[in-house]
Amino acid sequence: MSQMDVVIIGGGASGFFCACELLIQNKNLKVAIWEKTSKTLGKVRISGGGRCNVTHDAREVRKLLRKYPRGSKYLRAKFNNFGVQQTIDWFENRGVKLKTETDFRMFPITDSSETVAKCLENTFYHLGGITAFNRSLESARFSNDEWHLVSNSGEEFIARYIVLAIGGLTQPKANWLNSQFSMKTTPLVPSIFTLNIKDSDLHELSGLSVSEGRIKYEGFKQDYEGPVLITHWGLSGPAVLASSAWHAVDMYHLNYHTIVQVGWIAERNEDKVREELNVHLELNKFKKVGNSAAFDLPKRLWNWILSNAGIDLEKIGGDLKKDERNRLVENIIRTKLQVSGRTTYKEEFVTAGGVDLEELNPDGSFKKQPKLFAIGEMLDIDGITGGFNFQAAWSTAFSAAHGILKSY
Ligand SMILES: Cc1cc2nc3c(=O)[nH]c(=O)nc-3n(C[C@H](O)[C@H](O)[C@H](O)COP(=O)(O)OP(=O)(O)OC[C@H]3O[C@@H](n4cnc5c(N)ncnc54)[C@H](O)[C@@H]3O)c2cc1C
Repeated sequence: MSQMDVVIIGGGASGFFCACELLIQNKNLKVAIWEKTSKTLGKVRISGGGRCNVTHDAREVRKLLRKYPRGSKYLRAKFNNFGVQQTIDWFENRGVKLKTETDFRMFPITDSSETVAKCLENTFYHLGGITAFNRSLESARFSNDEWHLVSNSGEEFIARYIVLAIGGLTQPKANWLNSQFSMKTTPLVPSIFTLNIKDSDLHELSGLSVSEGRIKYEGFKQDYEGPVLITHWGLSGPAVLASSAWHAVDMYHLNYHTIVQVGWIAERNEDKVREELNVHLELNKFKKVGNSAAFDLPKRLWNWILSNAGIDLEKIGGDLKKDERNRLVENIIRTKLQVSGRTTYKEEFVTAGGVDLEELNPDGSFKKQPKLFAIGEMLDIDGITGGFNFQAAWSTAFSAAHGILKSY
């Protein structure tokens, strides 16, 4: 394997996809993957709770782009060339049929990530690809129109092209990229996390959720709608995870300490909520307020909201004073909670920040270094949960493969 056409550094989702696409288009190419560990596609195998959320059924590029807090401008052309529909077709053409769930996440019909991993591995090996396990790139030098690579064991190799696909960056990886290839990276911070809230009464409600909640951080305009789930450490659910991705950098600077405002119902107009609450209290005017939950809220959550608003649960509905009703409305649409840290979501750690996209040509090659590409999560691109991170991996990998094929 001393002389290759393309060496791909990193045997994850993007590395494999790029390698497969290169060989599908030109099976005479000599393509090798260097994987620093003893197994490839580790993240694909554990992804989506073992089911692999391959992509998201958002086939319109404009809508898809809205799911990327960082990198959407760069991704536009990539998705136009290879978006959700092309991903579905690519996998289906290789025997992996995808299905769409009610929340638009797409999984293999087998509900097993192994199907996706095996599809990538079989395609690659069947077309003559080679993987070198426990091998990483130590250094690389470009001369005489080819790359001279030195591996971790000190062996030397030659390749016409290098594709870097090393996954989410850590600071040491970013430093290495900078020293080796003068590659600039943006600050690295965690994205996609749940919120820690020190409130034992809230923790008691662990497992309860609302389907049409809302999350907003104090001092920021944007809010995030969707299900909100109460956990035994604070808050989770799609609205929380989306807010954490969009505010990954802000939250990092706040050291994950800030006030979050939680809306427990879809309606956000104060007057309309007050009106509906008054109708509810009138209908239940002889009942204890703690016994008649409004807005179809779970009873235990309703009681927690009442307590937060300083209202005695034993009080009779019809007796609630104007200021008590106002406090209740405020707590239904804007319960304020102190955030005191973050917790990684189901080990689904995604890095915000990475290789500065200004450094790249549209096909993913470096402006400063010839025949060197970067793809996948190592770029300053990240999506919210729901299959968007894999979609970015497939699309950037496809683009690099075709960039190489064009210039080959
Ligand atoms: C638990 C979990 C679940 C997830 N579930 C989903 C999901 O369902 N849907 C979704 O869209 N996203 C999901 N993600 C995110 C998704 O897995 C990543 O965005 C995606 O794997 C990125 O692909 P990649 O090829 O860029 O990096 P990776 O898949 O991380 O691959 C990088 C590879 O490079 C290797 N490597 C690193 N450095 C070197 C080196 N110097 N030399 C050689 N090899 C090296 C690594 O060992 C690894 O094999 C999940 C992430 C996690 C952690």
